[in-house]
Amino acid sequence: MAVRDRKSNRAKRSEQLQLLTAVPPCRPSALPVLDERLRGTKFVELAPRSVLNSPQQTGVDFWSLNPYIGCEFGCTYCYARYAHRYAVERARDAGRLSEAEFRDFRGPHGWEAFERRIFVKSRLVAALEADLRRYLRTAGPPDRPTAPIVIGTATDPYQPAERRFRLTRRVLERLARCDGLNLGIITKSPLVARDVDLLRDIQQRSDLEVYVSLITVDARVIRQFEARSPTPAARLRALQKLTAAGINAGLIVAPVLPGITDDRPHLEALFRAAREAGARFVHAGPLRLYPAVRDRFLPVLEAHFPDLPERYRRAYARHSGVPRTYARALGARIRRLQTRFGFPVNEGMVDRYRPRRPATQGELRL
Ligand code: SF4
Repeated sequence: MAVRDRKSNRAKRSEQLQLLTAVPPCRPSALPVLDERLRGTKFVELAPRSVLNSPQQTGVDFWSLNPYIGCEFGCTYCYARYAHRYAVERARDAGRLSEAEFRDFRGPHGWEAFERRIFVKSRLVAALEADLRRYLRTAGPPDRPTAPIVIGTATDPYQPAERRFRLTRRVLERLARCDGLNLGIITKSPLVARDVDLLRDIQQRSDLEVYVSLITVDARVIRQFEARSPTPAARLRALQKLTAAGINAGLIVAPVLPGITDDRPHLEALFRAAREAGARFVHAGPLRLYPAVRDRFLPVLEAHFPDLPERYRRAYARHSGVPRTYARALGARIRRLQTRFGFPVNEGMVDRYRPRRPATQGELRL
């Protein structure tokens, strides 16, 4: 019996060894799940070495920072899905996602995961510290204006995850210790009002613009195109809190949806609401229909505005931007409203990097 036991123990050890050597090498480390919602949304840790994107990396004239990748608000017109897909592909290539996980992180149609698998950037402040040194090296002499840093260019920095993870707040705490920055924040969330203390501190030492993003005051249209975003009333209340606290805040109307929210009544209602909330500025820009956005946006358009998809397909057939004549007419309409409601007349952040052209057409037609 004892001999049989010794033999079987040797056999077991040998089996175990075979099993161990048969196991493929461990993946460097899977992406840890930090939290999960009942409806299945997962929050996953990502530890990037760098968080501040330079203009050379992104091709725009400002530096950008996004504490999260992916966004639960799930706007159908959101162009940032590509950034999520890129992060997922890199994680797979680095061996941190199995093929099954990779499929899960892409979603059945390639767009779902952006709204349901949110990357939370850990060690954000340490990465920012190093990035700020890089940023300040490029800033030149102290009397020269620094390039803008914009928070929230690809995902909302105050999306629901921020309540739990507070990454944006930590970024602001760090930036509040800097002098002479030129800082912009874009958000759809009333949670921004939580940080009014920090925003005040920042504004004492740097230039600051807070853009509350709202495409219409019509809550029904909002729900058609933005799956889980805060209501217009909640956003306008947040804007009011910011301006009442002396924060340089205004409205960003982007995207204006051709044939849906570009008519005078819609835009006037927005400008009036902005005025009543004490906004310092209102900027606007038309929809850009990037290829990656079409699959998500056009079926929703089809469902709610069946006479529009064909016109959109024609208008956006060759470019992701609206036709030039439409852009001019919309620009003219926005400038008239800016004048009428007493806001500074300029092309704002959305249009700042596009060529300026005179407005020649009065009608908005795709
Ligand atoms: S809130 Fe902004 S980042 Fe989030 S889904 Fe909407 S457009 Fe995209």
